[in-house]
Amino acid sequence: MDERKSPAGGPGGRTWIREKCTSSGGRAQERFDADRVRAAAQNRWRSILAEMGVNPSSLDGRHHPCPACGGTDRFRFDDREGYGSFICSQCGAGDGFSLVARLLHLDSTRDFSEVVARVAELVGAQPEADPRNQAMARPAPTRPAPQPTDDQRARERLRIVWGESFSLADPGAEPARRYLEARGLGAIVVALPGTGVVRCHPALPYFEDGREIGRFPALVAVVQDVTGRAVSLHRTYLSGEGRKADLPSVKKLMPSIRPGVVKGASIRLYPATNFLGVCEGIETALAVRAATGQPVWAAITASGMAALALPPTIREIFIWCDMDANGVGQQAAMTKIRKP
Ligand SMILES: [Zn+2]
Repeated sequence: MDERKSPAGGPGGRTWIREKCTSSGGRAQERFDADRVRAAAQNRWRSILAEMGVNPSSLDGRHHPCPACGGTDRFRFDDREGYGSFICSQCGAGDGFSLVARLLHLDSTRDFSEVVARVAELVGAQPEADPRNQAMARPAPTRPAPQPTDDQRARERLRIVWGESFSLADPGAEPARRYLEARGLGAIVVALPGTGVVRCHPALPYFEDGREIGRFPALVAVVQDVTGRAVSLHRTYLSGEGRKADLPSVKKLMPSIRPGVVKGASIRLYPATNFLGVCEGIETALAVRAATGQPVWAAITASGMAALALPPTIREIFIWCDMDANGVGQQAAMTKIRKP
């Protein structure tokens, strides 16, 4: 069977097409809308997974061997809000689609259309296009299907990573809590809102020269531009014990929703009033919060600090400067902050 899959639809398109050769040689197209399949699968993941051969007794919310990668007790199916979520200390975390991808040895981003189609079959979701329209079809013109743009891929990747991450209060966020507690920021973690801008990913892939070299827990923070639009995620890779991971670049930004949009952006840890504290790193920002109670945003880097753009509603700014031996932090802090 020749199957060709390709994303279709507008920006962030969630409609996916799967084409199959029919016995008559014509092509029948099946389109599945991921959001509709997700809704159809809600609260049904136990039976979907059982149908795929997963032992139902391993889906009771307690620790078990991972149906995708084995082990003894590394996997827990917590099915948050009925979306099939799970956490595995080896192969990561995610929703039901992402677990199905692992079971089928597919990539949850690249092969998303295939994963959606498989779940759609299991829940009996109807394709978007009426297959009767294609039943008598002549061979369809072989116009190449539109490919997702880099920006669409970046958005989808950001959405997946954020969706796979846990609130800092969740048991799955233990490495991030340990990391912050080791910096004397334990109390502040409790005060961070559960749905806030900082989460913990249990096993985020780390890439070096385009090659995945491992998966590590990571502190993941939303990066927002001057209008408050989320434009990227900032990652701090950690060890399981909650130290910085032993990697060449522990802190990394993910590819943003469009090139250039992270200039002037920041991590808005606490809502600004008419005044605001700003500093470079998340850890410094939390320490400033703990010490002063100020609303505080992290500009991520020294150059981010120098380029930081702030909304016009903010009247007063406290600049918390990193005292770098080379003077970079101090210089960045002295740069005039831009306001639109
Ligand atoms: Zn696993």
